Amino acid sequence: MIIDIITIFPEFFETFLQTSIIKRAIEDGLVEINCHQLRDYSDRKHQKIDDTPYGGGAGMLMQFPPFYEAIKALKKKDSHIIMLSPQGRLLTQSVATDLSTYNHLILLCGHYEGIDARVEALIDQEISIGDYVLTGGEIPAMILSDAVIRLIPNVIAQESYEEDSLQKGWLKYPQYTKPDSYEGYEVPEILKSGHHQNINDWRKRESIKKTYEKRSDLIDKMTLTDHEQKILDEVKSKNKS
Ligand code: SAM
Repeated sequence: MIIDIITIFPEFFETFLQTSIIKRAIEDGLVEINCHQLRDYSDRKHQKIDDTPYGGGAGMLMQFPPFYEAIKALKKKDSHIIMLSPQGRLLTQSVATDLSTYNHLILLCGHYEGIDARVEALIDQEISIGDYVLTGGEIPAMILSDAVIRLIPNVIAQESYEEDSLQKGWLKYPQYTKPDSYEGYEVPEILKSGHHQNINDWRKRESIKKTYEKRSDLIDKMTLTDHEQKILDEVKSKNKS
């Protein structure tokens, strides 16, 4: 996958690209990330890219022509162009899974009051990382890229992300590592039993319990198997008693 990011602050991405799993994915050739300075596509004095909004109002708006030129230069046949915006579709694990199947993403980062609305005619999708307003699209672009890159085959083990919270709807079961006992805080005995079936059953139940207790809204959107429904009913009646 190639991710082209159009921004006025390419330096925002330096640490992101040089750290941990993202760094390794780039080194292994599984993803290529290019940050493009929007100002390079401006033909104005001092490479200015913003101006006051027509009709008046507070703040400055990013202009249409630099985005138009940047997209024209970067767009390919199979590009999927995304504008980061608080007005977009919420980024969820399912949206990230869908985006991980594209060959080429172009991400547009706004700043100030946002971007001239004509840019909406050039994009495929508007994505928000949450119902709050940030100063710029750089952190959202990093969040989106991170969520997508770890789902690209061979970036991390498939078993690893398939078991993750939200991937199949449920939150992940509790996990523990050594030491098994510390100052009276113990690891559940069952996890040390070596009995795989019992461990899997325990994990399934804990996963359903956690989701019910922390994010019951997620369960409302799922279609449960009979087995899952049975465990959920048991969890609910235990919580009542
Ligand atoms: N005036 C705009 C509005 O009311 O919708 C908000 C502009 S915001 C201050 C500047 C830029 O930050 C946006 O153009 C967008 O790229 C980015 N941004 C802010 N909040 C975001 C969010 N929740 N998700 C994605 N991008 C966001």
